[in-house]
Amino acid sequence: MQNNSNSESGIIDVLPDIKISAEPEDLICYGFDASGIESRPSAVAWPKNTEEVVRVMRYAFDNEISVTPRGAGTGMTGGSIPLNGAIVLSLEKMNKLVELDTNNLNVVVEPGIINGRLQRDIEHLGFFYPPDPASMNFCTIGGNAANNAGGPRALKYGVTRDYVMEIEAVLPDGNVITTGVRTTKGVVGYDLTRLLTGSEGTLAVITKLRLRILPLPEDVITLLAMFDSLEASGSAVAKITASKIIPRTLEFMDAGTIAAVENFKPVGIPRNVEALLLIELDGHPSAITKQAEKIVEICEALNADVKMAEDEAARNKLWEARRSISPALYHLNPTKINEDIVVPRDKIPDILKKLRGLSEESGIQIVNFGHAGDGNIHVNIMADKNDAEKYQKAQSLVREIFDMTLSLGGTISGEHGIGITKAPYLGMEIKKHELELMKGIKNLFDPKNILNPGKIFI
Ligand SMILES: Cc1cc2nc3c(=O)[nH]c(=O)nc-3n(C[C@H](O)[C@H](O)[C@H](O)COP(=O)(O)OP(=O)(O)OC[C@H]3O[C@@H](n4cnc5c(N)ncnc54)[C@H](O)[C@@H]3O)c2cc1C
Repeated sequence: MQNNSNSESGIIDVLPDIKISAEPEDLICYGFDASGIESRPSAVAWPKNTEEVVRVMRYAFDNEISVTPRGAGTGMTGGSIPLNGAIVLSLEKMNKLVELDTNNLNVVVEPGIINGRLQRDIEHLGFFYPPDPASMNFCTIGGNAANNAGGPRALKYGVTRDYVMEIEAVLPDGNVITTGVRTTKGVVGYDLTRLLTGSEGTLAVITKLRLRILPLPEDVITLLAMFDSLEASGSAVAKITASKIIPRTLEFMDAGTIAAVENFKPVGIPRNVEALLLIELDGHPSAITKQAEKIVEICEALNADVKMAEDEAARNKLWEARRSISPALYHLNPTKINEDIVVPRDKIPDILKKLRGLSEESGIQIVNFGHAGDGNIHVNIMADKNDAEKYQKAQSLVREIFDMTLSLGGTISGEHGIGITKAPYLGMEIKKHELELMKGIKNLFDPKNILNPGKIFI
């Protein structure tokens, strides 16, 4: 891997008309993400268009300098961290909504547009873009595509990959490619669009995307089900989907998460609640009213107390609580270890039981929340880095949690990707031949290994 120290003055001199900085305050601000890992870049470049991205990449390719693409730096696994003094290529200034095609239900955007802004820009016209990561008010669509982000609505609507139709991207050598189709169908050649989506900035820099959008549903019902037992909440998830109802969201919080949120941004959830589900249905009012009645029946049979959000303000308050979980937990413990495992939906009660056992056995608090409808649980091992012995013990739990997950037929990451933090565990899930194929693909796109090196593979 290259060491780029002192490369910054070169690029600033050679590309004077592109905004590039090597000022210490910029290097500090672009040297961390939500993973908590820190590593300073040698320079930060803010291209305004594809042509400027091409020129930065050509310079980097010719001089064998590493480049790390960056959206908003909200990634949880260190994907946008510049290792060994790489140049950070920030796409934040390329943030336009370029085209809205309501006849064909799609939009063209630049990668730096914030997910929440896109949502607001099209919602008032009666459309929506389903992928809604909890970070939607500050993460970018480029980062969402690079990480194949999901969100609460993934249960009914799928993840980012299901909505990316076409990609324009710049290869490490500066060549521009366009992948995919603007039609609803297309099977010509290999599907490079799906390959680039989720490639974590290691294959190409995404500079434009065409995304599928949908008409806004007619109505929404939001339910809050509070359980006195963790296992009962897990059973409710399996029973709701087994009854052939697919809510648009089925979010889960355990007692530790509820306590953290109530301390940070109170919404009035009783302290004795062991677990809750935030359930949202969308569609025709009469259909979702019937489904809501069935869900209430299922949850009440499991001894839950169920409430319905009466208006938009009450719904927003509940979602605000959901979106404040991550900050609330960081508030409690800034150095916690955060995983996002997925198990088949009907294995949720098993994994929750196993996680509780592991926490009791190790004496380390484990707090869980997540997109239970997808079987996607965010497992937070609450360890303080200042207590070296305890932190090391907490880290050793990660492998055990991944073992449990894989033995239940799950996967070690549902949406945060591999980045730096999960790279040591990749081989637990991906077998030898598949790993070789993946490394071969990386080599084909990036023979000099200059684009986001040190991520996914170690
Ligand atoms: C509070 C909080 C809640 C979150 N909730 C969710 C959630 O519900 N669902 C979810 O999926 N994630 C969630 N995340 C994680 C994170 O927000 C997502 O992974 C998001 O997609 C990252 O977007 P970003 O713009 O911040 O990208 P960054 O963090 O800047 O980058 C992420 C990766 O994408 C690459 N990249 C960025 N832009 C480009 C580009 N244009 N071309 C090529 N590569 C690029 C980077 O190199 C890096 O590998 C959450 C994070 C936080 C802090």
